[in-house]
Amino acid sequence: MPSNPLTPDELHAFDLLLTEHRTEITDKIQGLADTFAGVQGARSDGSTDGAHDAEASSLRTEWSRMSKFQGEFATELDAIDRALARVADGSYGFCSRGGERIGQERLEYRPASELCIDCARQLESSRRR
Ligand SMILES: [Zn+2]
Repeated sequence: MPSNPLTPDELHAFDLLLTEHRTEITDKIQGLADTFAGVQGARSDGSTDGAHDAEASSLRTEWSRMSKFQGEFATELDAIDRALARVADGSYGFCSRGGERIGQERLEYRPASELCIDCARQLESSRRR
């Protein structure tokens, strides 16, 4: 167990923050699904005239754009779920790489952070190479 865990109050605050973020992202994913259903619906009840090809290609563009967002949201949702699991098991707020405490400001800015700022920077610079 870490020697300086977050206080129960702090944990509770992050739990709320994460849950809020989770709801926001779930809403966004739902919104995307609704938008896509709307795009498809508008297309199927419209008449198929000369605009058909253009419409089909804009639909494809729209779909790939939304898939990209959906992928990003899903990744974020995963990170939030893992963070919530860490809140539950008491390891929340510690770097998953080095085990050191993640700065409070960083957690407030990105509550789903798994790495301390130093490890995150190291990882980023090693990826860039
Ligand atoms: Zn670290």
